[in-house]
Amino acid sequence: MASKDVLDKLASLRLNFQQRLPDDYKRLIKGWDDWTKNTEEADRLALLRQVHTLKGNSGTFGFSELSSRAAQFEAALDARQPNNESASVCFAALLTELNSVMSSGDTDDTPSIAGPSASLLTREAVSPSTAKPTQRPLLAYITEPDAAPDKALLNNLNVQGYDVTLASLSSKSTQLPQWILVDLAENKGSVRRFLAPIHRWLRNGLEVIVLIDELDFQAQLALVRAGVEHCLMRPVSVDQLLRLVRPRLGHAPEFQGRVLIMDDQEEIMRYYQTLLEASGLCVQIESEPAQIFHQIEQFNPDLLLLDINMPDATGPEVARVLRLHERFETLPILFLTGDYEQAAQRSDLLNIGSDDLLYKGMDETELVMLITARAERARQLSDLVNRDALSGLYNHGAVQRASEQYFARAHREQLPGSLVLLDLDHFKAVNDTYGHDIGDQVIRTLSQLLLARFRSTDTVGRYGGEEFVILLPDTSTEQAKTLVDSLRADMSALTFTTAEVSFTVTFSAGISDARDYSSHLEQFKAADEALYHAKQGGRNQVVISPTTAAPDPTTGAPDRLA
Ligand code: GH3
Ligand code: MG
Ligand code: MG
Repeated sequence: MASKDVLDKLASLRLNFQQRLPDDYKRLIKGWDDWTKNTEEADRLALLRQVHTLKGNSGTFGFSELSSRAAQFEAALDARQPNNESASVCFAALLTELNSVMSSGDTDDTPSIAGPSASLLTREAVSPSTAKPTQRPLLAYITEPDAAPDKALLNNLNVQGYDVTLASLSSKSTQLPQWILVDLAENKGSVRRFLAPIHRWLRNGLEVIVLIDELDFQAQLALVRAGVEHCLMRPVSVDQLLRLVRPRLGHAPEFQGRVLIMDDQEEIMRYYQTLLEASGLCVQIESEPAQIFHQIEQFNPDLLLLDINMPDATGPEVARVLRLHERFETLPILFLTGDYEQAAQRSDLLNIGSDDLLYKGMDETELVMLITARAERARQLSDLVNRDALSGLYNHGAVQRASEQYFARAHREQLPGSLVLLDLDHFKAVNDTYGHDIGDQVIRTLSQLLLARFRSTDTVGRYGGEEFVILLPDTSTEQAKTLVDSLRADMSALTFTTAEVSFTVTFSAGISDARDYSSHLEQFKAADEALYHAKQGGRNQVVISPTTAAPDPTTGAPDRLA
């Protein structure tokens, strides 16, 4: 999102809040009248709730004076004595401040949006790591004049979803993309000719990767002195290159922090959503505590931002419910409160397993940095446990846990759920012919392709060796086959190069639908059998497990594969 859009959106949310203040004003007066007339506890609580919400909202939208008047009145109301003097005084002060905010537009108590968040958003908006992928990412490939580019590398980048503009040192290019590949020729003069342009590109904030032929110390010393941080030796594999480029281009949705916000105030959630999304986080909002399990399963957040005061269940209660379950034990929870006094309860909240307490109305730059850092750390920790080091995909254990949940969900919601088992063809021969390192490179390259191709709600894992699992919720086996078939075509179009030769690798796949089986193990077995048939059928193909199977004559159970 561009920074102007974000600022506009934040300003419009704030304006909405401000425009509704006259209604709040009327409701407060009615609430106060009810309570002072009837002195019923229910009336006091209703009023308390109103003023509490006003306190949090006004803090969030930057009306700090109003927020602190509301806080004083709330404290006085807490004294539980109808008509107590302090409450009347505080109520009057609150109304005066409300009046002044309503009539002033934006002048007196100017919210902080134009201050810290403006600089924050501008900075984030130009940072490449937070740019949302709107089209195929672009790289520039620059050679010496008349030198030929590495065709296999260009082709592989293309298959992996990247566009490459070709240029040479002599061409006049006005605008370059974020990443530049500099293909140095073998002669020593090449380094000299490239030093000045490289220095200039780096100074302009672009990223440079230099492709070289040999480990020449002096040449690389010169490159380092020009500011170069990345060198790759030819032959360069697309997987080496993408490992450098992909996380920073922000084109791997799996590396984007995911934050779930739960608050009973829609507007507050939208406000934080806008702020956090502008800094590159992926945000989901939910106001119903009862939806918490569903949201976590669907969205798989790295962090939960939880309001404390909600009518149906309080934040601490929601946290306790989550912590009943082992699988939600490690999800970090940050409580969001409009209440400075709640600091007193901080240790109680930390006991439930909350990571910290954030205040509505705290400095936005700080808030965004704090949340981003927590989400990232949580992701790193969970990656250590759940990801496979070679491929970056989910490991065996994580895939199994995910597949149980995914199977249960498909049955509960009676939606299709495809499971794909995918296995590289004749991979032993690849290892035997080209060596284990090249074999690893093939595994990583396929993994990059898989990561780039599937949605963040899909689970892509390395089940073992050269076998992969993909879980596709809400996807029929026919849809899955179309997807995997196009992936298969792309895989077979990738060329792998050693110093001497080029070769290609294919895979076979089997697919089954969760709804056709009574356990996830059965579904796995069916996909495995379909994979076996793909291998038998000549490999490099995708087979759907037949689902309308005849009963097995010996057991009476349906036979999955006729
Ligand atoms: P098929 O088409 O029937 O699947 O034949 P295949 O050769 O692929 O199958 P097979 O199961 O006989 O061999 C799998 C090979 O995968 C054997 C093993 O050396 C290799 N492999 C497993 N894990 C890794 C790994 O992490 N790195 C590398 N380089 N090779 C691996
Ligand atoms: Mg194999
Ligand atoms: Mg195998």
